[in-house]
Order: sequence, then C-alpha cells, then structure tokens
Amino acid sequence: MRRSILTVILTGLGVSGVLGKKPNILFIFSDDHAHRAISAYGGDLAKVAPTPHIDRLAASGAIFENSFCGNSICGPSRASILTGKHSHKNGFMRNQRKGLDQTQWTLPKALQGAGYETAVIGKWHLVSNPVGFDYWEVLPGQGQYYNPDFIQMDGKLKRFEGYATDLTTDKALEWLKGRKGDQPFFLMCQHKAPHRDFAPALRHLSAFNGVEIPEPASLFDDYQNRSVTLKNNEMEIDRHFHWAYDAKVRKEHRGGVKFSGPDGYGTPVYSRMTDEQRKKWDAHFEPENRALAENYEKMTPKEIVKWKYQRYMKNYLGTVKAVDDSVGRLLDYVDQNGLADNTIVIYASDQGFYLGEHGWYDKRWMFEQSLKMPFVIRWPGVTKAGSKPKEMIQNIDYAPTLLEAAGVEVPKDIQGDSMVSVLKGEAKEWRKSIYYSYYELGIHNVPQHFGVRTETHKLFYLPKTKEWQMFDLVNDPEEMKSVYGEEKYSKVQRELKKEFERLREVYEAPPLEVSRK
Ligand code: CA
Repeated sequence: MRRSILTVILTGLGVSGVLGKKPNILFIFSDDHAHRAISAYGGDLAKVAPTPHIDRLAASGAIFENSFCGNSICGPSRASILTGKHSHKNGFMRNQRKGLDQTQWTLPKALQGAGYETAVIGKWHLVSNPVGFDYWEVLPGQGQYYNPDFIQMDGKLKRFEGYATDLTTDKALEWLKGRKGDQPFFLMCQHKAPHRDFAPALRHLSAFNGVEIPEPASLFDDYQNRSVTLKNNEMEIDRHFHWAYDAKVRKEHRGGVKFSGPDGYGTPVYSRMTDEQRKKWDAHFEPENRALAENYEKMTPKEIVKWKYQRYMKNYLGTVKAVDDSVGRLLDYVDQNGLADNTIVIYASDQGFYLGEHGWYDKRWMFEQSLKMPFVIRWPGVTKAGSKPKEMIQNIDYAPTLLEAAGVEVPKDIQGDSMVSVLKGEAKEWRKSIYYSYYELGIHNVPQHFGVRTETHKLFYLPKTKEWQMFDLVNDPEEMKSVYGEEKYSKVQRELKKEFERLREVYEAPPLEVSRK
C-alpha cells in the first residue's frame, strides 16, 4: 500500500507523523473479546450487555466490522501485532514455551527508537520478557483474575490485591500520570479479560441477575455438512465446559448431587481470593448453584446445556463490564488532560471467541466468530467520528499504521499495510482477501488449517484429514454447510484456490502440510 505523499515528504524531512507531530498512542487491548459482546457492533447482545465506553470510542472514531486476525490464538496474535508479520515469519506460531524472538524488528523497539516513551502493562503472553519498553509490568502467562501477580522489571513476581482488569488500568493510569518530559507515548494496556476462566469483578457478579441471554441459533450444532473433525473438537459447552472451573459450581454447593460431565482443573480463582472476596463470591453463586443441584436430576441434557450457556455468558459478559470500565477511565484521562487531540486511542482484542455458536466456547477456527477481531480507533484529524469502514484489515496492519502515524519508515519485510488511507476514508486500492493459518498441535483438538477469506467467501484446507472447506458467507453467514466441490460454486472455488496460492506466495507461507516446527 502506498503511503500518502505528504507523509513521505514529512518523513523524508525528518519531521514526522501524518499530522506533522508525533501522536501519542494508547492501545487498549483485551483477550478473547468477541464482536457479539460489544454493543457498538449492534449484535443481539447489545441490549442486554451494553459496552457504553467502547461505544463512546467508536462514536468518536471508526469501528471495523471486517477486522481479522491471522492466527486465532493469544500469543501468535500478539506476536503479529508487534512484528507486522504472519506467524510463520515472526516465529511465534503457537502458544509455546519458547518466547517471542525479540532480537527481530518489533513495533515497540521502533517507536522507542523514534523518541517515544513506551510501556506495556497487563497481559503479555509472549514468554520472554518485554523488549523495547521503557516500562513494563506484566502478568505471568495467562495471569490471574483475583489478586494477580505481576512480573516486575527486575524479574520478580509481586502480588497485588484486587481484580486484574482494575489493577491493570490503575497501573496504566499511574504510568500516564507519572510521565516526565514531553516525549510522545506508546502505552499498551492489555487485559486478561474476558479470557477463560471467566471470573467477573465482585461488583459485576449480579449484573445479569434475572436476565435471559439470547442463545445463538447454532448452540446445538450437529456438525453435519462440514469437516469430519468438528465433532471431535474439545471446546463444547456441553461436553467440555468444566463444572467448577468454568461454570463456578463448586462441589460444596452441590448438596451431594453427582454431576456428570467434565469437572477438572479445580477452582484456581477461588483459591486466590481473600476471605472477604470469597464471601461476596459465594453470596452470588451459592443460591443459584444449590437451586441447580436440587433440579439437576430432573433436567434433560439440553436443559443442562442451556443452563451452562446462561452461566457462561453471564460470567463472560461480567468480565467485559470491567474491561469497558477500563476503556472509560482511560478515555476520561485522555480527554480531561488535554491529550485528546494528539492521541490515537485503539481498542482491540487478540481474536474473537465463540459465545455458544456451534455449541462452543473458545476460538482457534477460521470461522467468523473467532477469525474476527474487534477494532475501534479514534484518531482526531484522521478518522471520521462514527465511521464504519468496510475494508478488510488484519492485525499485521497495526504496526505499519502506527509507524506511519509516528513518521517512521516501514521496514520492507513487514507484511501488513498501513491503514492510514483507509482510516481517512481515502483508500483507492486495498486488499480483497486475507490469509489465515492455525498451527496448534492438538489443544482442544482443533486441527491445523490454512485458508483465505474474501469479502464474500472463505476457503480453507486441513492437512491432517486432507479436507477442503468452503463457505458462502453471503448465503450462509453462520457457516453451517461447506459448499466445496459443489458444481454451482466451481468457478468461485477455482478463483479462491488461485487467490489462496497467490497469498501463500506473497507471504512466503510454508508447505500445506501439518507443521511441527
Ligand atoms: Ca486470546
């Protein structure tokens, strides 16, 4: 993508930034936040679970419907954001023990080198300690919701009492307030929420009392007409949602009734709580849990799934409430301290999530719910308030976009494109397809797959079973039937395969076989 002539001139002169002054960058990020759980996207949950602060950001900037990850899993999505490259190029292909190789070019190192004061606070999940940040304080691994440990810059763990989302926000605000000098800043405020195991803040436990969360049409998906591997995936609310760990039905609340179904991993959230926190937690969950236990033996399997779905969603959406509060607090700080005009504020999440669609929780698949990433951006002078660009953007685009904003030359091997022209509503040419890859080996039993999505169709290949899948997103937006091999789609299929091959060549993708690298 060509950058604007003005930017090229300004960059060439060593002046910088699209507007001639380096803007601050506030990147607010969460983990596993589905589109459907953001009311600005207008889905069926908007009424029961509004997100007023993310909506406020969207109303004053741009919100992207067609925003995608390149690999729907926590660490790899983050690695793509930091490097502007797909997983096979930055080397962080799956959630792995080996940390991100930060000797390679990364966005924070580049911004730091360009005079930015940089910080990352909260979930990091790239194993090796952050590099390129003047300040960092991150959760170890997945982090904990209650009384979490944060890794300090000296490498030591320090425990803080409170709720992770609030603590992460407090620390981000503290860092913003404590900045000295007039360097522009790049702050990544990154939440654990709403990631599994879905533990809301105490103040939000009762937020959905008496509310019926709408069910998706595919909650009882029978997995017909698609890959044979779907029925073996281990991410089903029915068969893989653990009673105490996920659904918060502790054994002590079951009145001796034997529950069937998965019940592993213990109760790590509860274990970390103070007595006072436990009291409030139990006051909310115990009566409902006991009522469930009393009815349990009379309930049909379908009724149990419906109960689990309600419990899952109320907790998931409860964690989202604290994330939304965080966005509100950070926006208030920017707006009330004269920073609004020269600060880019972004809200995004590392990938989407299944909120009962196909019977699932979790992510991984190239199906829409987990392929999509929420992306909301406010950039005064660039984005138009309330705009909803239709272009297909991807997480590899964030780095080149922010580099252009900062007036920094984009390295040639970056695979993403700067979105500045799209944000301005002036893009003359833009990509018509995105490339996807998923490399995990067996977690949740979702097989590796590699594909392409255009504005209207999707094609992917599963090397393990040598299956192709193809979806007509216009006529089958819920992706309930693969049309691969159907006569009437033969022309589209040919074109998609050609486009897939073209992208694989452009991105220098590895061979189409199971990768153990
Ligand atoms: Ca994630």
